[in-house]
Amino acid sequence: MIQRLCIIGVGLIGGSLARALRQAGACEEIVGAGRDPAHLQQAVDLGVIDRYETDIAAAVKDADMVFVSVPVGAMAAVFSALKDSLSDSAVLTDGGSAKGSVIAAAEQAFGQVPAQFVPGHPIAGIERSGVAASIPDLYRDRRVILTPLPRTDGGAIARVRAMWEATGATVTEMDPVHHDEVLAATSHLPHVLAFALVESLARLHDKREIFEYAAGGFRDFTRIASSDPDMWRDICLANADAILAMIERFSTDLQVLADAVRDHDSDKLQEIFTAAKQARDGFANTHLAESE
Ligand code: NAP
Repeated sequence: MIQRLCIIGVGLIGGSLARALRQAGACEEIVGAGRDPAHLQQAVDLGVIDRYETDIAAAVKDADMVFVSVPVGAMAAVFSALKDSLSDSAVLTDGGSAKGSVIAAAEQAFGQVPAQFVPGHPIAGIERSGVAASIPDLYRDRRVILTPLPRTDGGAIARVRAMWEATGATVTEMDPVHHDEVLAATSHLPHVLAFALVESLARLHDKREIFEYAAGGFRDFTRIASSDPDMWRDICLANADAILAMIERFSTDLQVLADAVRDHDSDKLQEIFTAAKQARDGFANTHLAESE
């Protein structure tokens, strides 16, 4: 049971955590913090948080759990603002989509990464943002990855694990570098490709016609290009090396496909599409069925 949870950044991710913990009866009081009082008042009106502070130092005072869910580029400033007010017994954790940069931000703010900080990342989301988009079931049957360091306190890890399990999520642990490589491939590259495709098509002269005749395939492939640009700019900057490695690898593979189209290489096209279908069907049969 969390006595006072402080959520810094009460948007989709922070708001959904608050709603889930409230629904589970796992939290006594929830204090929100952020930049815009109008957004925080909306969170109070929606019953997501009990009250708010616009001063981050005041918000974390006396909290036993602090969850930071601002865009990853804003983590360093938030850690600096809270470090002198965080109680020694409090647990600090976050939901940022890249872990190496958030750990570096904590080190920069605190001098060394505090043992009470448990980096985390819920593998759940939708393409909408803000507290109005938050839902209590966002984390149900989803995975949350914790990326503790060797010096992270075991009790703090257990408390963060229990918090996420109360939302219905399954918690796993991973090395932060490995996390950033895996997520670059499974989440960051697909988002970059969706943004790039839609932006490229939107620059065509006859774009109105293109979007008018776009069918289900276009909708499926590009849904995530409606995600928040600020958040994805920050993720690309924060996980640049791993994302770039994936873009370069993918560019090479796309060139192979382009060559096959140019050469009318029917066998090569058949081989690529068959391998992709088998991989996607296998994934859909196991993982998608599990999460639905
Ligand atoms: P969001 O809905 O836009 O919420 C972000 C919140 O942070 C807003 O309440 C915003 O409120 C606040 N904020 C923004 N900049 C701030 C700053 N400089 N200082 C203090 N507060 C600030 O975004 P989200 O989708 O919840 O994402 C939050 C975090 O979760 C990000 O680190 C993201 O990488 C991670 N994440 C997202 C997803 C996803 O699918 N969306 C999934 C997993 C993890 P104000 O504008 O009022 O300050």
